[in-house]
Formats: sequence, C-alpha cells, structure tokens
Amino acid sequence: MQKISTKTKIVCTLSNERTDEKLMRELIKSGMNVIRMNFSHMSKSAADEIIKNVVKLRNELKTPIAIMLDTKGPEVRIYGYDKPVVLKKDDLITIQSYNEDDIETKVTEKEKYFYTNLANIGKYTKQGSKILLMDGYIEGKIVEKENDRIIVDIKNGGEIRLRAHLSIPNIDYPVQFLSPKDIEDITYAVNNELDYIALSFVRSAEDISKVKNLIRGIKEDSDIKLIAKLENKQAVNNIDDIIHHSHGIMVARGDLGVEIDLEDVPVIQKKIIEKCYTNGKVVITATQMLESMIENPVPTRAEASDVANACYDMTSAVMLSGETAIGKFPALVVATMQRIIKKAEDNIEYNAIFKLRTDEFQNRDLTSVISYNAIATAYQCQATSIIAFTKSGFTARMISKFRPGLPIIAFTFDKKVYNQLAMNWGVYPFMLKENEDFETMLSEGMEFCLNNNLVKRGDLSVVVAGLPLGGTGRTNNIRIVSLGRSRIPAKLIHLGDVTATVVHVYDETDIQKKSVTGKIVFLKNFKKEYIPYLRNVAGVVMEDDEYENDLLVIGMAYNIPVMINAFAAMELLKDGVTVEIDSAKQLLIEV
Ligand code: PEP
Repeated sequence: MQKISTKTKIVCTLSNERTDEKLMRELIKSGMNVIRMNFSHMSKSAADEIIKNVVKLRNELKTPIAIMLDTKGPEVRIYGYDKPVVLKKDDLITIQSYNEDDIETKVTEKEKYFYTNLANIGKYTKQGSKILLMDGYIEGKIVEKENDRIIVDIKNGGEIRLRAHLSIPNIDYPVQFLSPKDIEDITYAVNNELDYIALSFVRSAEDISKVKNLIRGIKEDSDIKLIAKLENKQAVNNIDDIIHHSHGIMVARGDLGVEIDLEDVPVIQKKIIEKCYTNGKVVITATQMLESMIENPVPTRAEASDVANACYDMTSAVMLSGETAIGKFPALVVATMQRIIKKAEDNIEYNAIFKLRTDEFQNRDLTSVISYNAIATAYQCQATSIIAFTKSGFTARMISKFRPGLPIIAFTFDKKVYNQLAMNWGVYPFMLKENEDFETMLSEGMEFCLNNNLVKRGDLSVVVAGLPLGGTGRTNNIRIVSLGRSRIPAKLIHLGDVTATVVHVYDETDIQKKSVTGKIVFLKNFKKEYIPYLRNVAGVVMEDDEYENDLLVIGMAYNIPVMINAFAAMELLKDGVTVEIDSAKQLLIEV
C-alpha cells in the first residue's frame, strides 16, 4: 500500500523503449506518482502497453498512479532531410515554408536547405531576428528574407536531429492550436480514461476552451483534467486566464527557455508556482531537473538545489523527462529525486509559513475559510493528520492549497479521483466504499487509518468534508476526531509515561476495598489516609489542581507519575479501562 511519503509529487516521462512492467514497478517503488506519455514521440502501441501495466500495478501495489498524455501541440519544426545534419558557424541555411502533406517525408536535393510547416515564414520575422534550433542549442540570425523563406547565418553550430524544433523568439506563430494529430491523441486520452492531458504550447484561455469542447464531443461526462504547458510568451502574458480555465500548469522550462529570455525563466517559475497553488491549482516544475543523471549515477549540486528550491517554493510536482525516458538510471534517478525532496521538506516550517500568511488567506470564499480553519484547528489541537472525505477531490485540493505540514489523507469512492489525486501536493488518496450515512463512513475511514498505521491510537485528526457527500465544490464541515477512544489533556507534574488499568477512588472505602496496586488511581478528592495505599500504584490522576502540592510530594516520595487538571477524566475514562499517560503530549489516552 502507498506510504505517507513526500508531499511534492514526482512525474516520470516514459518512452517507446520504457514500457516494461518490471521497470514501472521499480519506478513506483522508488517514488513515481504520475506517468507522462509524451505524444510528440510516443507510439499508440507503446502507450497501450504502459496503460495495461499501470492498471495491473495500481492494484498489485495498492498505489494511486496518474497517467498524463502530453500532446505534440502546434510546434514549428524543420524538415527536408532524412539524416542528422551538422551545421557549422557562419553556415548560411535557407528555411522555406512548405504546406504540402508530404512535409514529414519530403527530402530536398539542395544542401543546407530546409522546409518548415510555418507558412509565410518571412512575413512573421524581421531581418536580424534570432532563430533557434534544437531547443536553443543552435542559434542563428536572419540575414535575408522573402515572404515564404528566410536565410539564416548560423552563429554556433552543432548537429540537428530529424524534425528539429524551430523557434523564433517573441513571435506569435499563426499555427492552428489543434492539429489533426492532437485531436487524434486527445481522443485517445479520453477514450482510454486517462487522468490528465498536458496541452503543449497553450497561448490563451481560448485554446483550453477549444480542447474542452473537443472533449465534450468525444465523451460528454469525461472528467479528464487539463494541464496547460507554459512554454511561450503569449501564455506568460495570459497566465491568469489560463490558470483560471485549466486544472493546472506545467512550467515547461525547456521550450519556455527558448521562447523567452533564459534569465526570465526562474523568475516566472517562482511567480507561477505561487499563483497556481494559492488558487488551488496543480503546478508541475519540468525539464532538466536532474538532466546529468541521463548519463551519470549522481546529479550535479546545482540540479539537487533546483529540485529542493522547487519544493521550497511549494510546487505540486517535479518532473523527469529524458532522465526516465531514455536515461541510464531510471529508478535511481527517481529515488534520488525523492531523497532530495524529503530532505528539503523536512526543513520547511510549514506551520510558521502558514501563520505568516494568515492575512493573505483571509476573506476568501467559504470553502477557503473552512479549509484554512481546518488546518488552523489541526495545528491548535496538535492533530497528526487532516482527513478529507471527497467525492470529486475538491475538498482535498482545497486543503492542499494552504500547504499544511500535516498529511492530507483523502478518502474517495471514485477510482478516477483516487488516481488523479496522486498529483496533488501533500494528498495521500485512499479508496473507501461509499455509504449514504456519513457516520458509518467516518468510522470505517478511521478504522482503515488505524489498521494501516496512517495514524496511531491516541492521535487526533481533523476531518473535513462537503456534506451531504456527493455534491462537488462544497466543503462545509470540520470535525475533530479522536482515534484512540477518549483522550484527555492534563498537566503532568511528576515523572513520565505509563500504561495501566484505571481505578476510580471516591472515598476511603474505595481505596481500602479496591485493588489499587499497579493501577492508575483516579482520585475524586485527597485525604492523608490515602497516602499508604498509593505506595505501589502505577500513577495518580486528579480532575483539578486543588491538591497539587500534596500530590507532587506523593509522586516524588513513591516515584510515580502524577497528572492534574484532567478535566472530566472520571466521566470519560471508566473504572477498568486501560489508559496511557503520555508525557510528551500531556495527554491521558484510552488504549
Ligand atoms: C518543456 O518544454 O519543458 C516540456 C516539458 O515540453 P516537451 O518535453 O514536450 O518539449
């Protein structure tokens, strides 16, 4: 069964060569939460194989795993060659617009001559404009242009792979957002009930609306979630609208770093992460996170810091691309990433950050107020978890947006929601049988938590739900639940932990007649006649502090724990039950 591990989730990219069940099992065990299938490169048969294995492994390992299909998107590429070409500094190359259907296969006879799917390339560029190939590794400058072709002077050379990516920074490409391939791939994602679609090169909220309409046409009630990839200037300019209309954002630093100035990427990344999570949206930080591990078993220090800093900024997830898709150490890279995340998270003072941001969190909608107060309550009563009962995942997501230090245990009844929540920061989803009666479901959930060591007996949890369950977008209930039957706060005035049976003493007859040796004696009052009988007891408890000094002397003389101010202890902890005096938590806990 899944463990309560890191809050920041890990997305791994698989490839046509990485569909093996054994490898996928290793990746899950190493910490993978989400699988990304990059349809710029992946075949449907490879995707079929991955989906089949995920379905099996989710059951076998009792772990939620989300699957995300990443679209090719409206990319601009160069064509016209059938093997990699080496370009040198000062080479002059021609790039010609070509609109025929055979663009992917047509090979030109001319040297240093390429085709592009961008129509009227000259019209959208200026003399002197920068041109980038191969994700920015090869750079050139336009020295001549006509309506449908440009001549580029190469500044720094290198090898260009087939169908290399062409970027002209700061240009609004007139390329249709949904290509026939994208439509086919989105249809595949919807029909295969995948969890997320990552949309490449989104430019505006209208692009997202187009996809939503397409999805509705394929399957009216599809609940697939859309992640908009932030990879160009237009998307940066329209980010608020895009966040509003999507389920989340991927900061796709690979293409973003080509389309906008490199030095702007970290600034934008930081801002977008905060914008997303404070709005209750998912945010994935992607690309080159542990890039050197494609070849090496250890990342660079800078890469380790990059992953840790994304966690400090509170990204929902960090993503691996080539590292797991083609790299030499796929499972090791996931385990390494998880180690870095764990260390960073252990050093984040979530409680202090939450308190500091109180003002910012105020005066929001009702759901936010409830979610915020659930966390505040949890901190106040020293709860060890927040438990969300959620049909659509909404309640869990709303808690997650405040980034609490406590685990968010999310019970849901919907398999899809269960897997989708694998992406959400700090959320650990579990399946529970739906029941119309919330009280029944609550006690079943608590039982599940205890049986699976998600909480310990004696722990407090704050339960949050939208009642009646079933509606979406409603979080309206907070409750404090004790997972160890009764637990009573009290003040320990002498010594420490002990577990023993309770015996109630109301008067002298009680203490004489009842067997008190080895037991925790709950005293209703105190008389000096009791003193000899207390010599061999396991501990003494009183509901108030009236006899504090006398009891302290007894505790010291007989070397036994003493608790006072245990309000209503004799009412809640009956004669004969076993209780634990927990000195660290200053609690009396029924065990
Ligand atoms: C990116 O550009 O960073 C990215 C994740 O997109 P892709 O891998 O599809 O180019």
